[in-house]
Amino acid sequence: MDQHMNYGGDYKYIPTTSVGSGVGIEVLPDLFNYTVQIVNIHFVGNPKTDDFVLVDAGMPDSAEEIISTTEDRFGKNSRPKAIILTHGHFDHVGAIIELVDHWQIPVYAHELELPFLTEQQRYPEPDPTVEGGMVAKMSPMFPNEPIDLGSHVEKLPSDGSVPHMPDFKWIHTPGHSPGHVSLFREKDGALIAGDAFVTVKQESLYKVLTQEQEISGPPRYLTPDWEAAKESVIKLESLKPTVAVTGHGLPMSGQLLSTSLEKLVREFDSIAVPDHGKYVDKNKH
Ligand SMILES: [Zn+2]
Ligand SMILES: [Zn+2]
Repeated sequence: MDQHMNYGGDYKYIPTTSVGSGVGIEVLPDLFNYTVQIVNIHFVGNPKTDDFVLVDAGMPDSAEEIISTTEDRFGKNSRPKAIILTHGHFDHVGAIIELVDHWQIPVYAHELELPFLTEQQRYPEPDPTVEGGMVAKMSPMFPNEPIDLGSHVEKLPSDGSVPHMPDFKWIHTPGHSPGHVSLFREKDGALIAGDAFVTVKQESLYKVLTQEQEISGPPRYLTPDWEAAKESVIKLESLKPTVAVTGHGLPMSGQLLSTSLEKLVREFDSIAVPDHGKYVDKNKH
């Protein structure tokens, strides 16, 4: 392994999965959503070409699966031009060091996320006391120590462009994490939301397992700033996306997406924000 990159000391395989694990869905001809256990990764670019990127990097111990999925779609020995991170939580960077080693490609993330990717800062501890179910209760066993990608990670360009994704712009959507970004393509309304909102109730083991489709705010146990999280959802809804892939849950599009997002904006405090928890002070509002 590259001597300049290290996972946090607590990175390990997490034994949770969903019915969607191992399933790939072509959401658009150049947007492919693939589920690694309980988290999604996205390939952007046309199949059987060299011109594509990977958004997010799956769960710990999933590099081989991600590489073979890549080669199935883009051809033997194909590799993305870059990995773009929506944020640095363990389930979005779980295989990144093996992938960077194997492909020798750069990683891009928002400037405010870089301290968490270069071992300078750690995310707040997950909050298992938020209501919602087993996954929330399991969250203290999730890896939380910062990883170090050293010089392999760079900040996203400040003009809003996304390297190797010509029609996309990155949009700062903090709340779930300080440097969280979503990626949006105006010409067809395609949105890669990350965990700014998700389409499954990620706290509930049953709903994660069955992937029952239901719009939800960011995963509760890992979201420290609910005011910023709400502003981010408002920002994304105002873009009127026509199709969305998210960090967790099935892709959503059309009328279901627009009505679900409107509802999430309208009822954010009751749908998204937990009634109690370390990072909530409902009396404040
Ligand atoms: Zn996250
Ligand atoms: Zn996530």
